[in-house]
Amino acid sequence: MTPRPEPPPAASLSYAQYSGWACCWCAKSLLDVTGAVSAGIARGREGVHVLDVEVYACPGCAPEHDRQGGTP
Ligand SMILES: [Zn+2]
Repeated sequence: MTPRPEPPPAASLSYAQYSGWACCWCAKSLLDVTGAVSAGIARGREGVHVLDVEVYACPGCAPEHDRQGGTP
């Protein structure tokens, strides 16, 4: 199995990325993109608060085996 790239740490994400509105890697807006996929869990911690959140990637950044459809 190819290892999945880990999403960036939650602390480094913008609000849009943290909220799942933008690609966690290239910050492209996902609001008008189809085929965004889960990129996994961005880990973070601020004091006692755990900031772990599921983040999303645009089709261009998603790991190849995670892309849906579009088979050549
Ligand atoms: Zn992207």
